Amino acid sequence: MTEHASRLQAFMATIEKRNPHEAEFLQAVREVADTLLPFIDQHPTYKDYNILERMCEPERVVIFRVPWVDDQGRYCVNRGYRVQMNSAIGPYKGGLRFHPTVTLSVLKFLAFEQVFKNSLTTLPLGGGKGGSDFDPKGKSDHEIMRFCQSFMNELSRHIGAFTDIPAGDIGVGAREIGYLFGQYKKISNEFTGVLTGKGLDYGGSLIRTEATGYGVVYFANEALTARGDSLEGKKCAVSGSGNVAQYTIEKLIQLGAIPVTVSDSAGFVHDPAGIDESKLAFIKELKNIKRGRIDEYTHHVKGATFHPDTTPWNAPVDLAFPCATQNELPEKDAHTLIKNGCKGVFEGANMPTTEEAYQVIRHHKLLFTPGKASNAGGVATSGLEMSQNAQRMSWTRDEVDYRLKMIMKSIHGNCEKFGRQEDGMIDYVKGANIAGFVKVADAMIAQGHV
Ligand code: NDP
Repeated sequence: MTEHASRLQAFMATIEKRNPHEAEFLQAVREVADTLLPFIDQHPTYKDYNILERMCEPERVVIFRVPWVDDQGRYCVNRGYRVQMNSAIGPYKGGLRFHPTVTLSVLKFLAFEQVFKNSLTTLPLGGGKGGSDFDPKGKSDHEIMRFCQSFMNELSRHIGAFTDIPAGDIGVGAREIGYLFGQYKKISNEFTGVLTGKGLDYGGSLIRTEATGYGVVYFANEALTARGDSLEGKKCAVSGSGNVAQYTIEKLIQLGAIPVTVSDSAGFVHDPAGIDESKLAFIKELKNIKRGRIDEYTHHVKGATFHPDTTPWNAPVDLAFPCATQNELPEKDAHTLIKNGCKGVFEGANMPTTEEAYQVIRHHKLLFTPGKASNAGGVATSGLEMSQNAQRMSWTRDEVDYRLKMIMKSIHGNCEKFGRQEDGMIDYVKGANIAGFVKVADAMIAQGHV
């Protein structure tokens, strides 16, 4: 075993002891520690202050009961969470996820990643994440509203415009944010920017809906340009069909790439002719309004095929954009992508690539950008929404889009600063982890043992 491997093992043993059985959280910490431990060894102050271990412990975790009544009058119960991970550089900020797979481990991994991501955006935002094991699929609007109101009855005690500002994530879109905001306003008797992703009529920002997906493509464009390449004419596999996937596809089309896949948890659609604006409009209506399943795309588009229980990584493509959920790109799919000539993987989702798949991608020197860098455009634009709320102003679409583009460029610059390798290539995982860490670590040292 190398010296680094044994140091990593020893560090992870302390984290595993305190967080047994939290597989996703441990996976996220291991990935970060792998690149940070050598950096910390070269900068012993961070070791003296035990910064990394302190960053692995949430500042606060709130777990609560969410009782609600369904349309048949039955009494139902779910579990709600808010993980307030780190507030060294700003108030806690991070989305809410409603999905049956939500556990404390999943939310701790997301909150941990969020700390680094928010630091990378250059905005003063700490990291947090929350949600519930509630499944919005198949629920009526009234059931969603009652659940959101009950969830906010408790969450409202722990958040605030200067304390913790949640946003959306899987299963929490414009509809849910509206219900959550309405209930917070009623309880607090205040109209404040306590949530982001709000509707445009009540404090939302233009481009916030599009921001994560657009940002992923802006970042991919920067990374390809740094390698002397471009998006033009590239066939792209995109997974998911929710918020991030839809706007990743939209920006890929606008920048001349050819998205050929889209998916949901039932399987993927392959459209070799490419998804264009009108096919994308169909996907948006299907998913955002009718709330249908993605296989319906093949009834609408000739030549498109549906592949049940399979991932989009089986389609022959030049570039891959995982935009659905964690660990959706396993090792065997990484081999398939490489066999088919894929040149780059750009994460839109959080931690969609398994540890084993990442090792394969790294070994084959594919261009790889981690979610904490490439999907940071969403939270960055949430930060812009907070600025507009504080100023009681609304910026134009062009202004917000320009700022988003500039933020993605500066995140790329930060990754380059800390991730440039001897062979001239940029290691985006290393660059993002170190750049995100330094700012938070320095602020923690400055603020003392709190
Ligand atoms: P949505 O709920 O809008 O969409 C999620 C999509 O992923 C759906 O198509 C869903 O399919 C699919 N999906 C969910 N779980 C699985 C699964 N187990 N297997 C296969 N497909 C699955 O969520 P978002 O688009 O907002 O989020 C997607 C990812 O991006 C998440 O990792 C999230 O954390 C991350 N992210 C989101 C940001 C945002 O601004 N929204 C910001 C930064 C990151 P189905 O309908 O069948 O469940």
